[in-house]
Amino acid sequence: MNFEELELNSKSIWQLVGEEEHREIYAYGDRYKNFLDNAKTEREACKFIIAEAVKNGFVSFEEAIKGKIKQGDKIYLNNKNKSAVLFVMGEDLTEGMRIVGSHIDCPRLDIKQRPLYEDLEMAFLKTHYYGGIKKYQWPTIPLALHGYVVNSNGESFDIRIGENEDDPVFYINDLLPHLGADQNKKVLGEAIPGESLNIVVGHSSYGIKEDKNPIKKAVLKYLNENYGIVEEDFMVAEFEVVPATKARDVGFDRAMIAAHGHDDRICSYANLEAILKTENPKITAVGLFVDKEEIGSVGNSSMSAKFFENAVAEILATGENYSDILVRRAMANSKVLSADVTAALDPDFKEVMDSKNAAVVGYGIAMSKYTGARGKSGCNDANSEFLVELRDIFKRDNVIWQTGELGKVDQGGGGTIAYILAEYGAEVVDMGTAMLSMHAPVELASKADAYMTFKAYKSFLK
Ligand code: MN
Ligand code: MN
Repeated sequence: MNFEELELNSKSIWQLVGEEEHREIYAYGDRYKNFLDNAKTEREACKFIIAEAVKNGFVSFEEAIKGKIKQGDKIYLNNKNKSAVLFVMGEDLTEGMRIVGSHIDCPRLDIKQRPLYEDLEMAFLKTHYYGGIKKYQWPTIPLALHGYVVNSNGESFDIRIGENEDDPVFYINDLLPHLGADQNKKVLGEAIPGESLNIVVGHSSYGIKEDKNPIKKAVLKYLNENYGIVEEDFMVAEFEVVPATKARDVGFDRAMIAAHGHDDRICSYANLEAILKTENPKITAVGLFVDKEEIGSVGNSSMSAKFFENAVAEILATGENYSDILVRRAMANSKVLSADVTAALDPDFKEVMDSKNAAVVGYGIAMSKYTGARGKSGCNDANSEFLVELRDIFKRDNVIWQTGELGKVDQGGGGTIAYILAEYGAEVVDMGTAMLSMHAPVELASKADAYMTFKAYKSFLK
């Protein structure tokens, strides 16, 4: 009896790839870092994705539905500048689609609508954090401000301060350890209250003669001179605060990347490269890039919004004998990879995961049959029939994959967009990159896993 064939024998990607693929892992890592640095918010990611789509021959949805749509056509849809859909049309849309769905929003700090104040010779912006963060991780790191603001003349500005070497950065204070006796006794989740995540944006009152709030006034003067905006404009603007750091190689071997927002840019970038390299598929290929996953997929730029279903309906309506049943067939016959990250086993925190079932960095894209916790509560539990199909195509294309259960059964868990597309009857499974320090300001992931994620999506879409 040959036990090599009986027993599951997993190996690291680094042990399995040849010279050419080893080179490609690093080349892919460089392209991914460029995406990370240029797409730090959902708006920037949406813009990046659409620009790449246009460069690669995609036409806008509005343009495409004016005419007859045929196999091989490449179409992009921009939803609210915060989510995007890329279609590469197959033979017959009602046969379903191959969809890779990732999200382009990340945990961060959002600026409140009336944020600006001064206290003790400093000006601050107040924040409300977005998504699941550990608040204690955000003070004392350099921060960048990304925003979209329209002034009263109707001029709109994309503001991005803190990302260039010579830009100023922003900062949240923390208590010195000398006076931290009481703070040290608090539990981690309460040591830094949400309302104390206030960002230092100014200190000098030079040149301001008014007595009341001269530093705040100096900040407003700066913003007005540079962007033509006034304090009221904050009330209708969107500003996000992210770490002011570029994606960096980690380790002597440069085999990992530390960056803000691997969750879920690592799957989103893989999704983007995969759909851009998909030509003339038999079954329509779709790259979905949605917003608001981190706050529960609510709102009109999220997966729960109907823009994707509406787009499918509009495309079908360009054909003959349109009816609602065609849309239902297209959705129900679809197969979906819910492209989101999962947690990799961390040598320092092994106790929260089942080491026999958790994903390991470097072992390839992770399939999570189910997420949820405490009895698979609230999860999409994928069907074996679909998983078998995936195993076959991954084998065909030499995709290295593993399974990934997020945490111990009773420890806690997380959700993804998987259940939303499953409601239409589509086959859906969570399939994404395993990573470390998820939702930290700067997260850690393997270049080998990032590349293998792309390879898996490409194999699925073609
Ligand atoms: Mn995610
Ligand atoms: Mn997340």
